[in-house]
Amino acid sequence: VEEINNVNPEYVRSFEFDAKLMPSTWIVVRLDGCHFHRFSELHGFLKPNDDRALNLMNSCAVAVFEEFQRDIVFAYGVSDEYSFIFKKTSNLYQRRAHKIISAIVSFFTSTYVMRWKDFFPQCELKYPPSFDGRVVCYPSTEILRDYLSWRQVDCHINNQYNSCFWKLVTSGKSKREAQHSLKGAQLQKKIEELGIDYNELPVMFRQGSSVYRDMVDNVPIHQENEESSVRYGKVIVEYIDIIGSTFWSEHPYLLH
Ligand code: ATP
Ligand code: ATP
Ligand code: MG
Ligand code: MG
Ligand code: MG
Ligand code: MG
Repeated sequence: VEEINNVNPEYVRSFEFDAKLMPSTWIVVRLDGCHFHRFSELHGFLKPNDDRALNLMNSCAVAVFEEFQRDIVFAYGVSDEYSFIFKKTSNLYQRRAHKIISAIVSFFTSTYVMRWKDFFPQCELKYPPSFDGRVVCYPSTEILRDYLSWRQVDCHINNQYNSCFWKLVTSGKSKREAQHSLKGAQLQKKIEELGIDYNELPVMFRQGSSVYRDMVDNVPIHQENEESSVRYGKVIVEYIDIIGSTFWSEHPYLLH
């Protein structure tokens, strides 16, 4: 005890590494389910897209949005991943990277576990799911838009691939055969060949989910709550094209 009392806390602290995110840049935290290929099979997710699982992800994203409402301006989710965009002026945890990632990912994960039964009432959670997270800073709105486009293109390509894959599997091919016949294939052509009515798939599957705060006349909708402190506009989830400029020019306050 004597010796421990003699340890200089500043000396011990000096080993800590405080990764600070560059000021005045967009911060993006992306989380992704760990081994969800397995998790989804074990919990009987419908293939290729289980809407209960996507709605649960969206519900957790809205919870994160509300918990960190001063800092997060937009979020985009697909499959087992979600990206949260923090405004350039955010000073959450003095922009300490480890604090930001761990706080977002653990809040999302515990919400996922708490709300599981609301979305999967017939299926018990068989083991504790986990998510990993990373953070990236984007120095301009243009590059941030490119990031979001990249995720939505990924959603589209994966969804095309998975639609073909599961069509092949449900029509009797083994997974290996299905994989083989899609190797290097032109997905658009395959979709036609297999008679998949791609445009009839739910928009959530094709576009992914976008989360943002509803605004009126470019001003947040303020609502008085019980303590009569200022609240932000209602958080909404939409399935929209975020690659083109239409959405962004109609919502100029989001990425200003
Ligand atoms: P890693 O730990 O490296 O992320 P992973 O198994 O989670 O591995 P991902 O590339 O993240 O791999 O892919 C997630 C997988 O989870 C998908 O390929 C799909 O099998 C499954 N999955 C996630 N969400 C859904 C959903 N809503 N419906 C059906 N399957 C889903
Ligand atoms: P921060 O978010 O900055 O960590 P905090 O409220 O979690 O804020 P800590 O310095 O981490 O502050 O302290 C944790 C606090 O949680 C303790 O001060 C104590 O009040 C409470 N606490 C944690 N574990 C216990 C426990 N086993 N029994 C009673 N109180 C506890
Ligand atoms: Mg991963
Ligand atoms: Mg994953
Ligand atoms: Mg993933
Ligand atoms: Mg604490």
